[in-house]
Amino acid sequence: MKKDFSPTLLDFGPFQILLARHFGFCYGVENAIDIAFRTIEEKPGKRIFLLSEMIHNPQVNTDLQASGVRFLQDNYGKTLIPFDELKPGDIVLIPAFGTTLEIEKRLNDLGIQTEKYNTTCPFVEKVWNRSEAIAKNNYTVVIHGKPKHEETRATFSHAASNAPSVVVKDMAEAIELSRHILEEKSPESFYEAFKGQYSEGFDVKKDLQRIGVVNQTTMLASDTQAIADFLKQTMIKKFGEQNFDEHFADTRDTLCYATNDNQTSVTEMLKTDADLAIVVGGYNSSNTSHLVELCEEKLPAYFINDEEKILSNKEILHYDLRRKEEILSVDYLPEKIPVKILLTSGASCPDALVEGVIRKLESFYPITKQHESLIEKFQ
Ligand code: SF4
Repeated sequence: MKKDFSPTLLDFGPFQILLARHFGFCYGVENAIDIAFRTIEEKPGKRIFLLSEMIHNPQVNTDLQASGVRFLQDNYGKTLIPFDELKPGDIVLIPAFGTTLEIEKRLNDLGIQTEKYNTTCPFVEKVWNRSEAIAKNNYTVVIHGKPKHEETRATFSHAASNAPSVVVKDMAEAIELSRHILEEKSPESFYEAFKGQYSEGFDVKKDLQRIGVVNQTTMLASDTQAIADFLKQTMIKKFGEQNFDEHFADTRDTLCYATNDNQTSVTEMLKTDADLAIVVGGYNSSNTSHLVELCEEKLPAYFINDEEKILSNKEILHYDLRRKEEILSVDYLPEKIPVKILLTSGASCPDALVEGVIRKLESFYPITKQHESLIEKFQ
């Protein structure tokens, strides 16, 4: 059956919320949180560490830290607690985005069992399997992802253990890669342009003859499609239409279901005549930032990590994706009735935060309908 992606209308009278049909926690995040808190409960007295943030949500990570869990690394792989402080028998939780083979081996060498406390999402493992399949057929693996993101680092490590691999972060880098495929640039310049993004021993003359593309599960669907199509066209240009499948592993994208559903729901809600959008989630969350990008193309969009950022009916503190910092906007709510607000959240955002935003907005208006009566029909 075709899924319904139309937004849910919550009509409070002076303001309306158009809530995305799919938003918030995904399977992988719920599973990871469940394993983490179950481990804390079942292993009292044990030292429990997290390799890095469990998921990209500050509230969840703060709750875990409050329960005594300590972080070994920050989001970019920088050491917070040296691995040599670990002792055999300590518990190290691997987050939903997975980790590199090198880190897994280091932990195992220290006597830490990683299998039982590994919360890697099955949809991330699916990408690893896909890259393995590509590698088995002697294709180089091109990974479309953010080079510093934990998931992309993990996927790169798994792919590179089977085949030459390279990460491209966006269309500009895909164009750069295509110029190397077409031998329009000197081979040496490849190593400069993709520094830190290619596997050891990568031979630009040999390893760009056959390629296949996989992607970080949370990229923007339209970007991923455009990059795969562009690289396919590059191979057709170089090797001809008849031979291109010898040189390009034509597979579907590896975005996860939650990324697809959340992005499609935003695309649907953007078809309404709303005045503004509020997107809730962690500022370092990849999937949330793509929801913001989609909204920004159509209307004023405010990226906040909780309702506290809504300072009043006049002022809102929100994250600017380009400046990479919070900024203050004034008069974000238009003076009209009803004000129509699109609302969604990323895959790592608890639903309670979305509810908090609705309650905060309610407090600014003489509402004619209570929150509870509006949600009754959905219960
Ligand atoms: S966003 Fe997708 S891949 Fe990532 S944890 Fe959630 S379901 Fe898994």
